[in-house]
Amino acid sequence: MSDHAVLHVKGRVLVGPEDVRDELWVVGGRVCYDRPAGARDVRTVEGWALPGLVDAHCHVGLGAHGPVDADTAEKQALTDREAGTLLIRDAGSPSDTRWVDDRDDLPKIIRAGRHIARTRRYMRNYAHEIEPDELVAYVAQEARRGDGWVKLVGDWIDRDLGDLSACWPREAVQAAIAEAHRLGARVTAHCFAESSLRDLVEAGIDCIEHATGLTEDLIPLFAERGVAIVPTLVNIATFPQLAAGGETKYPRWSAHMRRLHERRYDTVRGAYDAGVPVYVGTDAGGSLAHGLVAGEVAELVTAGIPPVAALSATSWGARAWLGRPGLEEGAPADLVVYESDPRADVRVLAAPRRVVLNGAVVE
Ligand SMILES: [Zn+2]
Repeated sequence: MSDHAVLHVKGRVLVGPEDVRDELWVVGGRVCYDRPAGARDVRTVEGWALPGLVDAHCHVGLGAHGPVDADTAEKQALTDREAGTLLIRDAGSPSDTRWVDDRDDLPKIIRAGRHIARTRRYMRNYAHEIEPDELVAYVAQEARRGDGWVKLVGDWIDRDLGDLSACWPREAVQAAIAEAHRLGARVTAHCFAESSLRDLVEAGIDCIEHATGLTEDLIPLFAERGVAIVPTLVNIATFPQLAAGGETKYPRWSAHMRRLHERRYDTVRGAYDAGVPVYVGTDAGGSLAHGLVAGEVAELVTAGIPPVAALSATSWGARAWLGRPGLEEGAPADLVVYESDPRADVRVLAAPRRVVLNGAVVE
């Protein structure tokens, strides 16, 4: 990182999808629209600037087998930074990553505490594994530990059934979501299946992760209630592989996973067309690598979401949804500069020219 007294970003600054400025200045790490008086030692960065990208489903401090050490968590965060991800909604982590908040050179993290799952109904070493009568207490605990979000595992394979099934009775999630809201936290849930969705949405949930089971009959309910989805298509791409691995033992589950995968683009496009808010998330940190944000934006475009909307899902729109500023005056100068207009072709996101975090150019 290099500290200059003043940074001048010029070219095209995309403050909003239609709000384009010719330049901005960075003074004291913050965005300023006017050239500061008496600016000396000015460094110039040129190109197409976007607010720092958002990965709304990412896990820092989590690896394939559970929590990882601080060095590994730091590498994960640095990999996201290189990709232009400067704001992460951490969708559940068993590690304490609070120390990241003291580091100006690492992406900002909005935490959801640790995953809350039903006993033996999630990946080992990831979640608090509990029963429904404990749900309210655990949700309250994680709401206090996190940064305004709580993460449930809404469905998972039931090994006796040999298929995905919902993890929580309706009354338990209803009470738990009400408790989270009372504490000022929003609630999201991991859901692959169809069967878990109605209860969660009618119980007042704020967001669904993956949402592969979203069908036409439920889409209007999501739209009406403004329940967002974070599809994580780069993760859904691994479903055929998972299905192949489980084929012998759980043929019903395998077939189900394949069906969900086959219709994934239609699911996302149908939700978007109906007005369901869709955001970019990569699900990095469990089995997936960090730094895949550009790939997820490209996947949303493949699904049929217009490029500017797909961009908004990782920048302007995602930041507004999470209650964080973009490139307004006075905001922390977190931005990414590209060679060409990302609205014209989102593939440019794969190669940031410059990343600026808290006003410092990442070298
Ligand atoms: Zn995840």
